[in-house]
Amino acid sequence: MTSSTSDAVNTVNENVAVVAAVPAPASVTNAVADTVSVVEQPRIDALFEQHRPLLSFEFFPPKDGAGSELLFRAIDELKPLHPDFVSITRTGVGTQPTLDLTHRVQNELGIRAMAHLTCVHHTPDEMGDALDCLWERGVRNVLALRGDLPPGQAAPQAGDSGFRYATDLVPFVRQRHDFCVGVAGYPEGHPQCLNVTRDIEYLNQKVDAGASFVITQLFFDNADFYRWRDAVQAMGVTVPIVAGIMPILSVAQTKRFVGMCGAKIPHPLLLKLESLESDPLSVHAAGVEHAISQCEELLANGVSGLHFYTLNRSKATVLITQELKLERQ
Ligand SMILES: Cc1cc2nc3c(=O)[nH]c(=O)nc-3n(C[C@H](O)[C@H](O)[C@H](O)COP(=O)(O)OP(=O)(O)OC[C@H]3O[C@@H](n4cnc5c(N)ncnc54)[C@H](O)[C@@H]3O)c2cc1C
Repeated sequence: MTSSTSDAVNTVNENVAVVAAVPAPASVTNAVADTVSVVEQPRIDALFEQHRPLLSFEFFPPKDGAGSELLFRAIDELKPLHPDFVSITRTGVGTQPTLDLTHRVQNELGIRAMAHLTCVHHTPDEMGDALDCLWERGVRNVLALRGDLPPGQAAPQAGDSGFRYATDLVPFVRQRHDFCVGVAGYPEGHPQCLNVTRDIEYLNQKVDAGASFVITQLFFDNADFYRWRDAVQAMGVTVPIVAGIMPILSVAQTKRFVGMCGAKIPHPLLLKLESLESDPLSVHAAGVEHAISQCEELLANGVSGLHFYTLNRSKATVLITQELKLERQ
C-alpha cells in the first residue's frame, strides 16, 4: 500500500453521489479498507457534451505485489492530471480482477472508471453477473469487447458461448442496466478483418446497437486515423471517436505490441528508434517526442479525446500531457 493511495480514500469530487457501502475488493492487493462507499460517477457520454477533448488513461490489473506497487504508484502520479476517466482492461486471468480494480479506482481513489469486458470467453450468465457487480458498485461505464480468440482459431465458433462478436455484447450490456457503452475501433483494420470497409460496417452495427463512443487501437501515423475516421463518419457514425495513444517506452516492446494488434510503425520513426535501441533513455525521449507531436496534431484536427495506454507506467504520459497542457482543474 502506498501512503498517497490510502490518503486518497474517499476523496471524491462534489459532482458525484455516494449510493451505498460494500466490502472492499479482495483480489487486488493493497486493499485499504474493509468497506468503501460506492460512488456513482457521471457517465462518460455526458462529458462529451462539454465539447472539449477528453483525457483518459488505461491500466491493467496487476499480476502480483510488485505489479501492484507499480500500478498504484503510476495512478498516484497520474491522478493530479485529473483524467476524465480511467479504464481497466480485462486480462487473461479473467474478469474478477477487472471488476475489483475498477471498483477500487472509482470508489477508493475517486476517479471515474470504466471496465473493459470481453464476451467471447463467457456465458450470458457470467456476463450478467459481472454487469450486476459493476452496477451495484456505482460503475456506469463499460467498454464492450469481443476479446481475442484462442491461438489458431480464425472465427468464433457458434455455440461456444452466447456471444460471437462485440455486436452481441453491446445490446446485452444496454439491456442489463443503463450503462454508457464504448466500443473498440481499428484505424488500420482489425487483424482478422477481411476488408476495412466491412470492419467499419461492423463498427457501425456496434454503434446502432447502443454504443456511445469509440476508442481506437493504438496507431502511430495520424494519416491512418484521419482516413479511417473520414470513412467511419461517411458511413453515418456520429458518436465521438477517441484516439488510442501508446507512448513508446522500448523498441522491443513496441515491436511486440505492433505485431499483436496489426498497427504499423512509420518507416522514419522505425529507423530512428532502431538507431537509438541501445540507449533506453533516448528511446523513451523519442517516444515522448513522437507522441507529443502526434497528439498536438490530433487536437488541432478535432479529436474527441486522447486515451493513453499507460502500461501501468506514468512518466511518459505525465510528460506528454503536461506538454499538451491537458491537465484538468
Ligand atoms: C480500445 C481497446 C481496448 C481493448 N481492451 C481489451 C481488453 O481489455 N482485453 C482484451 O482481451 N482485449 C482488449 N482489446 C482487444 C480486443 O479484444 C481484440 O482486438 C479482439 O480481437 C476484438 O475485439 P472487438 O470488440 O473489437 O471485436 P469485434 O468488434 O467483435 O470485431 C472482431 C472481428 O470480427 C469482425 N466482426 C465484428 N462483428 C462481426 C459480425 N457481426 N459478423 C462477422 N464478423 C464480425 C470484425 O471485423 C473484426 O475483424 C482492446 C482493443 C481496443 C481497441
